[in-house]
Amino acid sequence: MNGIDILASLTGALGGGGVRVVDLTQPLEPKTPVLQLPPEFVQNPPFEIEVLSKYDERGPAWYWNKIKCGEHTGTHFDAPIHFVTGKDYENNATDTIPVERFIGPACVLDATKEVESDPDFLVTIEFIKTWEAEHGKIPPDSWVLFRTNWSKRTDPADFLNFAEDGPHTPGWDAACIPFLAEERDILGVGVETVGTDAGQAFAFEPAFPCHTLMHGANKFGLASLTNLDQLPPTGAIIIAPPLKIVGGSGSPLRVLALVPG
Ligand code: MN
Repeated sequence: MNGIDILASLTGALGGGGVRVVDLTQPLEPKTPVLQLPPEFVQNPPFEIEVLSKYDERGPAWYWNKIKCGEHTGTHFDAPIHFVTGKDYENNATDTIPVERFIGPACVLDATKEVESDPDFLVTIEFIKTWEAEHGKIPPDSWVLFRTNWSKRTDPADFLNFAEDGPHTPGWDAACIPFLAEERDILGVGVETVGTDAGQAFAFEPAFPCHTLMHGANKFGLASLTNLDQLPPTGAIIIAPPLKIVGGSGSPLRVLALVPG
């Protein structure tokens, strides 16, 4: 099939119900939970929004807001330049990453059962290979999405899940990141939690392995996704372009999935 036919089929499927669009994005508002870092570091400020005019004397026929936030707020994109290990790649920021790398097939790893009994659950190479035995090898340039049902925790305290020894949220075993980045050559990973690393990952070796090794391999991250339970294990296409912030390390974004059926 040539490009014209492929796009005509897609247009027909989008209109006719053969392909569904699923929104994987959390609402962005001042109460949106943000990552909390150890107290010695600068903190992620909450999302701010302020009305500039709303059909009033400030602008009689128009409504618009001013917004202010960190780049890593709510459902957001992590670019390789975000981490020191990815800082020297060419085209590693939100404005320079080749745009075709924002779109790719989804492989959805479902660990909802494991996470229900263990909020610190980590994806391992074994876990991925078990998934591949059922669903096939993860193809190059895939988005690997970690389904945990964590997004169903609507209370921010439950979502961040802090204890005295820090946050307890699921993530990735350090060894599986080079496996995904190099042996499977994926685009990046997406998670339902506030950041791509596990809550306890500050104490891992290396610390924050998903950030350190994924961005160190020039790959991406997507955090605070939702509705992963509406995706099949394979067969969906993810569309995740960040804002074109010049030199940006990431940005809030709308993440869409094209899903069969
Ligand atoms: Mn981030």
